[in-house]
Amino acid sequence: MHIEALADSRSSSELGQQLHLFAADLYPICRSITGNGIRRTLDKIGERISLKISEVPTGTQVFDWTVPKEWNIRDAYVKGASGKRVIDFARSSLHVLNYSMPVHATMPLAMLKPHLFTLPEHPDWVPYRTSYYKEEWGFCLSHNEMLALEEGDYEIFIDSTLEPGHLTYGECFLHGRSSDEVLISSHICHPSLANDNLSGLSVATFLAQLLSERDLRYSYRFLFIPGTIGAITWLARNQQATERIRHGLVLAGVGDAGAFHYKKSRRGDAEIDRVATYVLNEGRGSAEILDFSPYGYDERQYCSPGFNLPVGCLMRSVWGTFPEYHTSADNLDFINPQQLEESLRVCGAIVDILEGNQRYCNLSPFGEPQLGKRGLYRSTGGNKIGVEIDARLWVLNFSDGAHSLLDIAERSGIPFAAIRDAARLLCDKGLLSVAQD
Ligand SMILES: [Zn+2]
Repeated sequence: MHIEALADSRSSSELGQQLHLFAADLYPICRSITGNGIRRTLDKIGERISLKISEVPTGTQVFDWTVPKEWNIRDAYVKGASGKRVIDFARSSLHVLNYSMPVHATMPLAMLKPHLFTLPEHPDWVPYRTSYYKEEWGFCLSHNEMLALEEGDYEIFIDSTLEPGHLTYGECFLHGRSSDEVLISSHICHPSLANDNLSGLSVATFLAQLLSERDLRYSYRFLFIPGTIGAITWLARNQQATERIRHGLVLAGVGDAGAFHYKKSRRGDAEIDRVATYVLNEGRGSAEILDFSPYGYDERQYCSPGFNLPVGCLMRSVWGTFPEYHTSADNLDFINPQQLEESLRVCGAIVDILEGNQRYCNLSPFGEPQLGKRGLYRSTGGNKIGVEIDARLWVLNFSDGAHSLLDIAERSGIPFAAIRDAARLLCDKGLLSVAQD
C-alpha cells in the first residue's frame, strides 16, 4: 500500500481536522529561536513521533554564526494610569517584540512610542517583530490600539530573561532499507502564527507518523528547528551526515488557501525538483514552480554553495506575498483542515514517487518478450486494458538501466503509479531487474 493510499484510507475530514487541531494546540505557545517555547513545542511533537532533542550551548560557534543567548518570557504588559493593562502579552504572544530584553520602568507616552510597532496599512492587525541579534525591547499592537493611547505615564514591564543557555532542536529519524536519506525540514521558531509555520510542522509531524508505519526504501530525517540559526547549527554539527542526503524538502506555509508553489533546489535539476514538479502538475493546475533564489526559508542554508544539497521548498502562498504574512491575521482561521490535508497528500505523493523511482534492466531485451505466454497481454483490471499493457511495453522498452520510471512516466504520459505497478509485475515475472548503480 502506498503512502497516499494510506492517507486516503483515513476519513478525509478527520485527517485535516487532526492537522488543524494539532496546529491549534501549539498556537498559543510563545516560541522563538531558543527557549522553553521551543521545548514545549518539541514535547508535543514528541507525543506523536519519536524525537531526539539536541541542546546546543550559547556561544557555540556554528560556521560563521554563534549560538545566541537563550530567551525566555513569563509575562509582559504596558499599564496605563488606571492600572489597566493596555498591552498584554497574556492575550497574544505577538504583543512582545520577540527576544525583548527585560525592562521595568515608568515613562511618558513619547518615550514609549519608539518601542511600539504597528501596521498602519492594516490598523486592526498586530505585527510580528523580532530582534534576535540586537538587544532591544518593544511591544507590538494594532495601529488603532496605539492611536487610542492617551498622553501620560505608562508602566512598562517585560519579565524576560536573556542569558547563557541553549538552542534546542528536534530530529526524527526513520530507518529505511538504504542509508541514503530524505531530509524534511520545518522551522518551529515563530510564536502565534498559523501558516508560518504551524502548518509546516504539523504536516511534517503527520508525514513522519504515516511513514513510521511503512517499510521504507530511504531513511527519513525530519528536522524541527529554529529558522536560519537552527539549520546552520544542525549543518555545522552534522556535516558528514549531509553526504547521505539524496533528496530534501523544506515545508513552510502549507495551510493557507493559496495555490501550491515549489521552489527548486539550487541545482535546479535534482530528482526532488522533477518529482515535486511532476506531482504538482498532475491535477493541481494552478501550482507554480519557482527557480531557486538565495532567500526564503532554510533551503538557503541547505543549498549554500558548501553543501548544495538537493533540497527544495514546498509552500502554498509564497512568504511575504500575502498581507497576513507575519501578522496576527495569520491565525487559525487563515489555515484550514482541507488545505493542510491536501498539503500532506502532496508530500505523500512526492514520497511515493521518490520511493518507487528506480531504474531497471529488461532481462529479455532482444525483441519484445512474448507477453501472452506469461499472461501479461491481458489486463488484470478489465476496462483499463490499454493503459496496463501500454505501461508494460513502455517499461520493457525503456528499462535499459539508464531511464528511471519517472523518465518513462513523463515520456509516455502514463501515470507514475501505473508505470511503477507494471515494473513490479514485470519483476515478478522475471522480465525485469533493478539496475545496479
Ligand atoms: Zn516567517
